[in-house]
Parts: sequence; structure tokens; C-alpha cells
Amino acid sequence: MTVATALAQYNALQSKLSAYNHAMSLIFYDGATTAPKKTADNRAHALSVLSEESYRLTTCEETVSLLEFLDAHREELSQKDRRSVELSLKDIRELQKIPMEEFVAYQELLVKADDVWHDAKENNDFASFCPILEEIFATTVRFATYCAPEMHPYNYCLGKYEDGLTMEQCDAFFAALRQKIVPLIKRITRAQQLDNACLHGHFDVSSQEKFARALMRVMGIDEGRCGLGTTEHPFTTSIGSHRDVRITTNYSEEDFSSSMYSVIHEGGHALYDMNSADDLAYTNLDGGVSMGIHESQSRFYENLLGRSEAFVAHIYPDVVACFPEQMKGYTAQDLYRAVNRVEPSLIRVEADEVTYCLHVMVRYELEKRAVSGELAVRDLPTEWNRLYREYLGVEVPDDTHGVLQDSHWSGGGIGYFPSYALGSAYGAQLLAKMKQSVDVDACLHAGDFAPINDWNREHIWKYGCLIKPGELLESALGEPFDPTYYTDYLEKKYSELYSL
Ligand code: ZN
Repeated sequence: MTVATALAQYNALQSKLSAYNHAMSLIFYDGATTAPKKTADNRAHALSVLSEESYRLTTCEETVSLLEFLDAHREELSQKDRRSVELSLKDIRELQKIPMEEFVAYQELLVKADDVWHDAKENNDFASFCPILEEIFATTVRFATYCAPEMHPYNYCLGKYEDGLTMEQCDAFFAALRQKIVPLIKRITRAQQLDNACLHGHFDVSSQEKFARALMRVMGIDEGRCGLGTTEHPFTTSIGSHRDVRITTNYSEEDFSSSMYSVIHEGGHALYDMNSADDLAYTNLDGGVSMGIHESQSRFYENLLGRSEAFVAHIYPDVVACFPEQMKGYTAQDLYRAVNRVEPSLIRVEADEVTYCLHVMVRYELEKRAVSGELAVRDLPTEWNRLYREYLGVEVPDDTHGVLQDSHWSGGGIGYFPSYALGSAYGAQLLAKMKQSVDVDACLHAGDFAPINDWNREHIWKYGCLIKPGELLESALGEPFDPTYYTDYLEKKYSELYSL
């Protein structure tokens, strides 16, 4: 075999795998959006056939020897091919460490867990979810031990979502945030509170959908390649490659800002995914490189841009056009203050910018202790409620509004949460860097996202997974990551808003 023929085989394999992914993503998207209620079994059948075939193709002997051959000739490969082979091999070697039966059993467990969690959340019944959650935590620890026996299992979990991330780094990062954020919240609580009455009323879904489309257009999202659907939990997914991306939102008829900010958040994810360099399509380098970088883009659009005075002033006429009755008597400044009201609350996804990271810290502390075996899964609700009281000063009335609120644990996403806080902090530093060459406020005032999107495309998006997340971030920033940018941003913005 020559390197050229091996590469041709490898490319054909990747193209085939991305077609399987295309079908599986579409089936998943259909189930979450428009599929009729009683069709889950039918989709499960198709999904199990496709995922088994995709698993077999990924791990079969032929694929492994092909990759080992290419790896042995890595010096002759382009940077792109080398990185692609390296990532494929890393994935396969990890999969190989987990016994096949245990891997399949875990996939089945997660499908079941999703149903059990939905019911448990609806019925405020943690006891019914506890046994399956115990199994998820136990399996997570066991798999971590198979894959990286030399590592603390929770460090392995963190690294799955942000390459190389450790508890030591998280502890230092969260301590730095806490030191600034906790006193800031105290000062805000003592100040005159901001009014958010203009967000409340009745907002019909069709006007909200019209508004969502207007937001996507302003953000520069190509609607010819990005669909908008409705689901209980908003998300973004690529269908086979960056050439077809879908975002979803959830409309609250009592508060239009809920869907507004989830559209902008998911729109940020979509822009990142859609703007991989075109030649990365149908390879494992297509799309975002890590969850921390992904959240840095989504939370960048949602908060740093979407909740800025300049953007709110620009979008205000669209809000009035969609909701003329409800907005009567309210100015753009009223809207700006309303969407930035700070209030310690129970639900992470609805939290304001200032208290948001405290929600993440609660989850981080609990995961760390549960994975280390210091905290029993059955004690999670009690500890959850205690930490909400300690960090946010709120009383959790029931598990539906507490430990059962997020879908991450039922989906096996242990170690994911710190990405949200890291992403928020990356975003603030990226904005400072961007402002050195782009007049961001003028762009937002004019509703011209092109210079902002161009900067992100050049520095982040186009690379897909070509560069490791840490290197990508540092090269975009031109300096090491420093969370002070984030805490400075929060202090400045909210001191002005609350006249502190
Ligand atoms: Zn997100």
C-alpha cells in the first residue's frame, strides 16, 4: 500500500461515516421536533442499525491497520491529514479500552435514562431517577479508569469536553470568579433594582417566530443553510457536515426574551459550526473543536453582544414591530435594563450574566465529589439545595427546580458544565482582543455583524478541529487565557447599570 492509496481509502471511509452521521442526526432532530408522538420505537430501530454499523466501521481491524499505516507515515501527510488521523486513532484507542458489551449497555442505559429523567423531572421524583443516575456515575468512573488509569477519573471527564482541563485549573478559575462575583452580587442586591416589566405579558408564538427569524438575519446566519425548529430544550446540531445546521428554540408565551436569547445563543453555536473551512466537510475535523470554545461563541453572541446597549438599541424597532401593544410606553433603554436585570434564581438556563457561573460552580462541586466517591448520588438533592442556599442565597422548593433541572447527567455529560463558565470567560477576552481591530459597538448599533463574524471566522471558526483548543484560543487571543477580562467586564457593565 502507498500513502496515496491509504489516504484515498481513509477519505472514502470518512465520507461514509459522515453519511451515517447525517442520517442519525436527522433522525434525532426529527424526533426532537416534528415526529409524531408514538414513533420513538421506529426511530430507535433505525438508529440502532446505523450506530452499530458506524461503530463497526470505526473500530474494525481494517480501519485500525489503515490508520496505523498512515500514522507510521505521518511525516509524509499534510497537517490536515495528520491531525485527522491522530484524532481518529485517539478515539479508536479509547473505544478499544472499553469492552464492547459494556459500551453497548451504556448506550442503552442512556436512552432509558433520558425517559426516566423526563418523567422524574415532571413528577418531582428524584427517587425514581436515583438508581439509573447511580449507574451512570458508576459507569463514568469505570470507563475513566479503563481509558486513563493514571488519571483522577474526574480529570478524565473534564478533559473530554475541554482538552487537558483539570480540577486544579477549575478550582483556581472558579476561586478567581467567586472572589469578584460574590461581592458584586452583594452590592447589586443593595442597589435600586432594574425593572423588567416590559418582558412580561402575552406574546403569541407566531410573532415570536417572526422575531426569531429577524434575529437570525441580523446575526448574519444564512437561512438557506440553517433551519429553526421548536423543542423543549433548545440545541444546535449539524446534519452530516457544516453545510446543513439546525437550531431550535422554545417559546414562552409569557416572556419573549426567553426565546430571544436562546435563538441568539444557539445562533452563536450555529455560526461556529457553519463556518468551518469548506474542505473540512465530511471529515472528523468539521465543526467546533471543544465545548469550551463552542460555549465561548454561543455565550459571546448571547451576552457580550446580545445584551449590550448597542445591540438592544438596534433590535428595539424589531421588538416593537413584532410586539407593538406589549412594548407601548417602553424605550430601548427600558429594554436594555430589563434584559440585564440581576437576580439570584433557581434555574441555570434563565440566569443572568452575573449569577450564571455560580450555578455552574454548584454542579462542578457536586460532580467532583460524586466522581471521587465522597458524595453518594442519593445525597445529591440535599447537597444541591445546601449549595444553592450558600452560593446563591435561594431556597430550592423541589427537585424539579433543583437537581433535576438539567438534562446533562441523564445524557452522561458529567464534566460538561465547567465549559459554560470557561466559555463565558474566553468570550470576554476574545471581545477585548476583537475590539483592537473592530469597532464592535458601531457594528452592533448599525446591525452590521459582518466585521464581527469575519473576525471570528478568521481567528476561530475556519479551523474546525485542525488546531487543539488551547492553542487555538491562545493564538486568537495573542496571550494566555486570563479570567480577569471576564470579571472586569462584569464589574464595569453592572456598576454602570446599577449605579454602584
Ligand atoms: Zn450552548
